[in-house]
Amino acid sequence: STRIVIVGGGLAAATAAEELRARRHSGSIDLVTAEQHRPYQRPPLSKGYLAGKEGLDAVYAHPDGWEAQHDIALHVGNPAVRIAEGSVELADGAVLPFDRLLLATGAQPRRLAVPGGDAHGLHVLRTLDDADRLRAALSAGGRRVVLVGAGWIGLELAAAARGYDNEVTVVSPDPIPLVKAVGPEMGSMFRGLHEQHGVEFLLGEAVTGIDTDESGAASGVITDRRSVPADVVIVGIGAVPDTSLAETAGLEIDGGVLVDEHLRTSAPAIYAAGDVANAFHPVLGARLRSEHWANAIAGGKVAGANMLGGDAVLDDIPYFYTDQYDLGMEYSGYASSADEAELVIRGDLEAREFVAFWVADGRVVAGMNVNVWEVNDQVQRLIRDRVAVDRARLADAGVDLREI
Ligand code: FAD
Repeated sequence: STRIVIVGGGLAAATAAEELRARRHSGSIDLVTAEQHRPYQRPPLSKGYLAGKEGLDAVYAHPDGWEAQHDIALHVGNPAVRIAEGSVELADGAVLPFDRLLLATGAQPRRLAVPGGDAHGLHVLRTLDDADRLRAALSAGGRRVVLVGAGWIGLELAAAARGYDNEVTVVSPDPIPLVKAVGPEMGSMFRGLHEQHGVEFLLGEAVTGIDTDESGAASGVITDRRSVPADVVIVGIGAVPDTSLAETAGLEIDGGVLVDEHLRTSAPAIYAAGDVANAFHPVLGARLRSEHWANAIAGGKVAGANMLGGDAVLDDIPYFYTDQYDLGMEYSGYASSADEAELVIRGDLEAREFVAFWVADGRVVAGMNVNVWEVNDQVQRLIRDRVAVDRARLADAGVDLREI
């Protein structure tokens, strides 16, 4: 029977393993993770878990003992270091032969390439261990926290740090937070939200260095305009796909491991899913490397099915959510096509209770619901079916979205 090795300790890996057993795969499954933890999901690390409102049960992908119950051999704290013909070598020297291999190695935080950018005490947030360190640094409150980066992680962390009553400053070279993700209008909406909660923004300022104290620990952020002292410095400037293992197999790599819509890499028995995969998206007609939770789940399922000889296609519309203070948001669609689109608002922007649509060529290419729920299916339908929309009706909250 088919021997399957899965490399990765995140949600793509966990979901693939689950899918294989759900499809009654009776061969071996080895799940290999570099981390000291069984597979877990990351969204709570910047939200409920960091805030102390959720425990580890909200973080782990499966309950304790699940892997053993499903006859999955779990290798924790033992990274895969090399892929050879038909086998994977682990750091401890073990060699795992495979018939099918899934690479779900995710991404690593991007480092700041400035003097002091590797100072000790600098925080990043990717792993559970990072989250534990951050929680310890933030939870007492009353500290000066400087966040480098005004993307999703930066803003979620700003909210978490304010939640513990720290002083928070967000520094970014971007003129508006989240501008690359959701454009200037929606980015400004998030800025307003954070300012109302007491966050200070230093925007349009390039970070040129990290200050350190006598012991060499990070003690502040230097920009092209000023020096900002800090008790806690956090860097959240994006993530880079972890392709180092894929390179050892000579796979085609370009901004992630290149895969087709079936998540097959350039090597016949090897698949890739989740943040590491740069996958051909059949709806978009282009490659897309999605760095979102829903994509890790959907990709894990598709890879699981296809490693058993299936022909599943990953064609989900990209989906993302965030929680910051009392704001909950879901975003669906193709941000790349939203760049030139016109924004249509349904609801109350001031009260932060609305749905924003990005409309291009008379069709919705992306949509974002803010503190409005149970509309995401309809938003996705408009995008998927390329429904020709009337802007006035789209903006009119009195018209049921199902009628659009
Ligand atoms: P990962 O979760 O990155 O897992 C990859 C795993 O592979 C890691 O455990 C790594 O150690 C392991 N690994 C790497 N190389 C090797 C090797 N050679 N051998 C063995 N193991 C290896 N998305 C959303 O949609 N909504 C959110 O609200 C949201 N919040 C987030 C908050 C945080 C703090 C972070 C970091 C991410 C968040 N995301 C969110 C993104 C989402 O978590 C990722 O898209 C998702 O984790 C991707 O899953 P993955 O399985 O592809 O990779």
